[in-house]
Amino acid sequence: MPHAPRLPPHLVRRDLAAVPPYVPGRPLSDLQRELGDVPITKLASNEGPYPPFPAALEAITAAGHDQNLYPDPGAWALRDALAARHGVDPGRIVVGNGMDSLIKLLCMALLEPGDELLMGWPSFVSYRQGATIQGAVFSPVPLRADGAYDLPALAAAVGPRTKIVAVVSPNNPTGGAVGPDELEAFLDSLPGHVLPVLDEAYAEYLPEGGHDGMALLRDGRGLVVMRTFSKAYGLAGLRVGWMAGPEGLPEAMSPVRNVFDVNAVAQAAAVASLADAPAHMPARMEEARAERERMAEGLRALGLDPLPSSANFVFVEVGPERAAAIDRGLTARGVIVRPTGGFGAPGGLRITAGTPAQTDRLLAAMAEVLEDLA
Ligand SMILES: *Cc1c(COP(=O)(O)O)cnc(C)c1O
Repeated sequence: MPHAPRLPPHLVRRDLAAVPPYVPGRPLSDLQRELGDVPITKLASNEGPYPPFPAALEAITAAGHDQNLYPDPGAWALRDALAARHGVDPGRIVVGNGMDSLIKLLCMALLEPGDELLMGWPSFVSYRQGATIQGAVFSPVPLRADGAYDLPALAAAVGPRTKIVAVVSPNNPTGGAVGPDELEAFLDSLPGHVLPVLDEAYAEYLPEGGHDGMALLRDGRGLVVMRTFSKAYGLAGLRVGWMAGPEGLPEAMSPVRNVFDVNAVAQAAAVASLADAPAHMPARMEEARAERERMAEGLRALGLDPLPSSANFVFVEVGPERAAAIDRGLTARGVIVRPTGGFGAPGGLRITAGTPAQTDRLLAAMAEVLEDLA
C-alpha cells in the first residue's frame, strides 16, 4: 500500500488549535473485552436509563420503510407538536441535530471575531467551542458554591462587546439550578444589546416550581430557550434538540443550518415521544429524582460530599488525583463515570443517576474503591 498522503498543516485554520477538544470516552466494546464477564454500568453521559417511550419505538420502526426519501427540511410536524405543547409560535422554533449542534450554529449566526460570549464556569463546553471557533471571546464567570450559576456576577460581567449570555440551568457538570425569581430579575437587568440563552437540557428533572423557559417566552421575554430529546425522553442516539426564541431567530439561523439537519426517523420519534409523554414522563421523572437523591445519600454515607442537584446526575469534588484514582477503580469494576476536567472542573466526578439496580451497583463499587484507597 502506498503511504497515505497527509493533510498539509498550513491548510488548517490555525486559530482552531485554541478550540477545547471534546474528549470521548473509551468505546464500551473495548472495555468489555478487557473486563471479560464483568457487566458494564455506564453512568457517564447523563443519558436516560430507559428506552424511548413505546409510541416512539413504534414510530422508529414504522419510519424505516420510507428512508429512501429525504426528511421534511422544515420539520413541520415536530415544530407544530412542540408549539402546541408549549404555547409558542412554531415560526419561532428551530430544530437541530441535537442541542449541541444548535449551540454551535447559534454562535456561527451571531458571533463575529472580537464579540464576547459570557457564561458560568465550570459548565457545558459546546458554548466555549462555538465561541472560540468564531474567533469570539469566551469569558467564564465562576459558579456559586452550590454549583448553580451566579446570576448577579454574570450580569455584572456584561460588557459592550457581549452578545450572548448563556445560563445553563440545571448546570452540567454540577447539577445546580437557579431559581425562577432570580432568573426573571436577571433577565430584567440585562442591557438590550445582549441575547440571553437559557440551556434547559434538564428541564424535565427540575422540581415543581422550578424555572420554565417556555413560560418566559409566553410572557413575551426576549430570550432563547434550548431543550433536547436526549435526556428525559431517552432519544440521545437519534439526535434531536430544539430552540425557541425571539421573532427572527429562525431567519438568522437559516444561512448556517444544514437543510436536512434532523433525520426523518428522529423527527418521527420526537413527535411520537411528545404524544406519549403525558402518560409516561411523570413516573419516569419521579424515579429519576428519587434515584438521584438515593445515590447522593449513599455517596454521603461513604464520606463524599455531592453538590445539590436538580438534574439526573450528581457532582462530587474530590481533587484531581483522587478523581483519577476513583475513576480507575470504578472502571475496573465495570462502572463508568465522568471525570470533569473537560468541563473546567479538574477535581470532580459527575455520576449519572440511572435505574435502582444501577444505583446499587455504583454505590457498591464506590464503597470498594474508597476502601481500597483508604
Ligand atoms: C446533554 C446536554 C446538551 C446537549 O444535548 P444534545 O444531545 O446535543 O441535544 C446541551 N446542554 C447541556 C447542559 C447538556 O447537558
